[in-house]
Amino acid sequence: MAYAYDNQNIFAKILRGEIPNSTVLETEHCLAFRDIAPAAPDHILVIPKGAYVNFDHFGNEASDAELLDFSRTVARIARDTGAAPDAGGQGYRLIANTGRHGVQDVPHFHIHLIAGRQLGRMIQNENGEKS
Ligand code: 5GP
Repeated sequence: MAYAYDNQNIFAKILRGEIPNSTVLETEHCLAFRDIAPAAPDHILVIPKGAYVNFDHFGNEASDAELLDFSRTVARIARDTGAAPDAGGQGYRLIANTGRHGVQDVPHFHIHLIAGRQLGRMIQNENGEKS
């Protein structure tokens, strides 16, 4: 299976420092930064520094160190934002849009961590109605 990575995507440019970002946390293998169009008071994107197109690319081909660092980074941000329920928070949602049906706009794997308000139910139909 060959995954085609476009190194001109916007997150690749952010990783190269060509576009500014509002960094929340940087680790050896990950960068976390605020979404430019937040859907909630806290809307943070966590991306691996490696060139992975989507979750299955990352899950299939990332090293153990990258996978571990990514999971720990997401969990740390959930804690740091105050959203993690075990730390007294009200919860959060993780989203990894993938491909056409997942309506993925930026072809560099990322997880949205969204928190800070009641988020409602998750899935809408193609007309934008909640099901
Ligand atoms: P996707 O639809 O691919 O899952 O989400 C891409 C996300 O990237 C969107 O929520 C969008 O607001 C965010 N985004 C797009 N361009 C930029 C940018 O230049 N900077 C930041 N911080 N976020 C961006």
